[in-house]
Formats: sequence, structure tokens, C-alpha cells
Amino acid sequence: MPGVYQESVDEVVEECREVAGLGLSAVILFGLPERKDAKGSSSLLANGVVQRAVAAIKKANLNLIVMTDVCLCEYTDHGHCGVIENGEIANDATLEILAEQALSHARAGADIVAPSDMMDGRVSAIRKKLDANGLADTAILSYAAKYCSAFYGPFREAAQSAPQFGDRRSYQMDPANVREALKEVALDLEEGADMVMVKPALAYLDVIRATRERFDIPVGAYNVSGEYAMVKAAAQKGWLDEKRTVLEILTGIQRAGADIILTYHAKDVAKWLKA
Ligand SMILES: [Zn+2]
Repeated sequence: MPGVYQESVDEVVEECREVAGLGLSAVILFGLPERKDAKGSSSLLANGVVQRAVAAIKKANLNLIVMTDVCLCEYTDHGHCGVIENGEIANDATLEILAEQALSHARAGADIVAPSDMMDGRVSAIRKKLDANGLADTAILSYAAKYCSAFYGPFREAAQSAPQFGDRRSYQMDPANVREALKEVALDLEEGADMVMVKPALAYLDVIRATRERFDIPVGAYNVSGEYAMVKAAAQKGWLDEKRTVLEILTGIQRAGADIILTYHAKDVAKWLKA
């Protein structure tokens, strides 16, 4: 995608310096390991790519909240968000790996861990693991309502994490269902989530609104890669005014009730608003 790059640990610190200088408040890291395997083992290493990046950003003493994506799909050779047993995603076997991964991110200095896998019970598994290791202050941003969406396409390409077989329908949500989203949010909050995320954002503004109205917690919205790519492509063709379109979209997401917006447009918006 235009404007989107994979970064080394050194590069990401410089990127974060720029981001902090623009007045943005937080970053979220997604890891791309050198080696992938069936269980995503490289996601747990204390010297893994995300762990090293978090430590380096923290050491640079920037005024930035550092969040990390907690999932397996970037680290598994099959590209699924959980481990596979008998040809199916094994929910419970995945929980311990996710909890260990979150712990290693928190130990490296992450302020917020953000599980995006959609396994049942992962918030509770992560919360328990963090608390038992003296990391009660590390917050959890849970992707509570993550829909099975075509809008993730460009990210999977960039993160080389497209599933090698099947799809993610068994653990991601049905786009037609809003009540299930509210149920998932309630469950995640019971399990100890500090804030929740709705993903994608644009086609799910009603889900953001419903979550906002029902729960008194910070609501995040993920303006995903496909949403970004549509605007970028149309702008490149001269079919849309990029700045006006982006500001209108983000205003709409905020109006729907999002307190936090994850967006690939962040740096552009910060520059526009500063100018
Ligand atoms: Zn995943």
C-alpha cells in the first residue's frame, strides 16, 4: 500500500520519533518474524522483533503510548490466528501461547497489549498471566468485535499473513450480526479488558455506536487497510479529494462513538491538522 512500509527495529524508532513529533499519542506494533512455524513460536522470544522494537522505542523516551498486536497469524506458517489440531483451530491450546506472547510484550515495556485473535477466553488468560507476573498496570485493548471482512486484504499482503488454507470464519464474526458483537464486548469486559475495538470501522459504524451506547469504556475503531486502500487508490486516480475524504471518514467514525481510531492515515491527518 502507498505510504505503508515494513520497518526494522532501528527504522521504527526513527518513525516513532517523527510520529511523536507530529503530536500523535500512540503506536501499535505488528511483528514480522524471520521464521514462521506451526505454533508461532517466534512470537514469544524475549529478543523477538516486537519485543526488541518495544524496548527500543521505550528507551528513546518518546511521549508515546506503545501498544502491541497479540496474535499468531503473523508468526504461523499456515497464517491462522491459532494453532491447528486435527485440521481445526484449537482454541484452548492457543490461549497459553497468546498469554505468553502478551507477557513478553509487557516485559519489554508495552503499555497496552491488544489481542486480535478472537479466541474465546484469551482476555482472561492474558490478564491472569500479566497479573501473576507483576504487570497489573499493563492494559488490555481487546479486539472484541472483529468481523470476517474482505477489507483486511491489503494488510495480509503487507504482513504476509494470509491463511494458507481455509478462512477465518470459525473465529471471526459474521458481518450480518450486531448482537453477537455486544455479547463479545460484554464477555471481554468481564474477563478484564480495559477497552475494546471494533474492526473494521466503516461498514460497522452501527456496531461502534451500539457499543458506545451500551458500555461505559473507551471504544476503539480500526480503520483497516482496505478502507485506507480505497481512498488512496481513488485519490491517485484523481477521483476523490484525499484530504477532505479522509477527514470526513474519520469524523464519521468518531461521531459513531469511537474514542480511539487506529488508522493508516494518522500521519497525514496530523500534518493536515497542524498546517
Ligand atoms: Zn491474527
